[in-house]
Amino acid sequence: MRIARRQALAGLAAFCVSPNPARAESELVTVRAGTLPIVLTAPHGGRLGPPNVRERSRTNPQTRERSRSFGGVVLGADLNTDLLGHAIATELQRLTGQAPSLVIANFARRYIDANRPPEAAYDDESAAPVYRAYHEAIRTQVNALRARYGRALLIDLHGQGVEAKVLMRGTLNGQSVSALTARAGIEAVTGQRGLFGLLKQQGFRTFPDMPVAKGLGGEDAGFRGGYTVATYGSHHPDGIDAVQWELGIDYRRKETLGDWSKRAAAALAEFAGNYL
Ligand SMILES: [Zn+2]
Repeated sequence: MRIARRQALAGLAAFCVSPNPARAESELVTVRAGTLPIVLTAPHGGRLGPPNVRERSRTNPQTRERSRSFGGVVLGADLNTDLLGHAIATELQRLTGQAPSLVIANFARRYIDANRPPEAAYDDESAAPVYRAYHEAIRTQVNALRARYGRALLIDLHGQGVEAKVLMRGTLNGQSVSALTARAGIEAVTGQRGLFGLLKQQGFRTFPDMPVAKGLGGEDAGFRGGYTVATYGSHHPDGIDAVQWELGIDYRRKETLGDWSKRAAAALAEFAGNYL
């Protein structure tokens, strides 16, 4: 936490001394290229205000209209999902000796919602370069991992406020992991050695619960996968397997996220060994 605050302050200091927008974007989006075939993304955990960008408005009729089919205008952050991304990455590196790729939004959701298409992501056009920097970073990592491994997994980290101790699966009911299930079957997602079976063995309560007899349906309508998994998922020829994790607050409190990050990383490391 102290480190994050220091980074945030360093970022703000950079805006004050440098009018260079490229510099500002690099502070507002954390990008790390790793060598594991895993990329972690976190669009809603950021805390910073981009310079000269107006906040989004819940009452702006245009914004409301554009956001209607994406769950409406949501301004609140997914608390600590930025820290969770960093912590899982650190633990994955410790476990496997290799780092995952990382793309984390450090800008606050009330300015830019990075898990929306551009027309619904911001009210102020000044936000466009920052939004583009975030998505270009994901595209670069996805392309690099596809070129290197042919297969890879994207985890889009979120926080949900409905069930405190549930991790909700979002794969667009199987669509965004279609390459994985085509080559390895549904058990690669819900089986004992699959991603959610391993998360369950690590103590996570997952929804939908397993086993799922047929297909990968039954995901919660509000959390079954947003713009990120819909854009970078393996149902596209240029995509990779993409899964949204919607974590209840019990998994991401300041006091608990270290432990749950280790468990999540253990499941991911074992999944990578089994299927990537
Ligand atoms: Zn979210």
